[in-house]
This record gives sequence, structure tokens and C-alpha cells, in this order.
Amino acid sequence: MSDQVIPTGIEVSNSDQVLEIEWSDGHHSEYPLFGLRKNCPCVTCRGGHGNMNSFDRSLFFVDPTQNFEVEDIKQIGNHAIKIFWNDGHNNGMYQWGTLRDMCPCKECYPEQA
Ligand SMILES: [Zn+2]
Ligand SMILES: [Zn+2]
Repeated sequence: MSDQVIPTGIEVSNSDQVLEIEWSDGHHSEYPLFGLRKNCPCVTCRGGHGNMNSFDRSLFFVDPTQNFEVEDIKQIGNHAIKIFWNDGHNNGMYQWGTLRDMCPCKECYPEQA
């Protein structure tokens, strides 16, 4: 997949509660941390292997019931990042394709209010 869209830059701001990604095709994504944590792709958070690709983008638009902070981000190979959350959770491997599919911008997610 040489034409795979990959991040060219990832920035997180815990004070603004947002993770931003610049993509190689010029797209820009902003993920509220609450929704990103709630959409953690690990088996535990998904509630089983059968739900591994079920994400809820509406979680990016709810009022956060708590603040999550990112303590570290590590790239996994050339296809994913691992996010180390301040609640100790770090099992989720956020693959590029998953992150892009989750993009909550108006263009990618016109269903948003
Ligand atoms: Zn998880
Ligand atoms: Zn988008």
C-alpha cells in the first residue's frame, strides 16, 4: 500500500484536550481526547474481538465527563501509534486507517450537528 495516507505530524495538547494530526494528503484532523480515549481500539475497551472496528464518533462531541491526558505517544512500526494515557491505560494501538476513519471533522463526518 504505497499510496497509504500517513500522518506527517502529530501534536497533542493536554491543556486544550485535543490531539491533532496532519496527514500526507494535506488533511487535518483534530480529536478531542475524551472521545479518543473512549474509542480506544484495544480488545478490553472494545468489549471483544468482534467489536474491534466499531467506533463511535459521536463520542467526540459529547461533554467530557472527565479529562484524559496523554503522557506519551509511541509509533508502532509504520502503521500505528500507541497512546499512553494518564489513567495508566496504554493497550490501544491506533492504526493510521482507524484514526483517519475516526476523523470527526465536518468533511469526514457530516452527520455531526
Ligand atoms: Zn483500551
Ligand atoms: Zn476529516
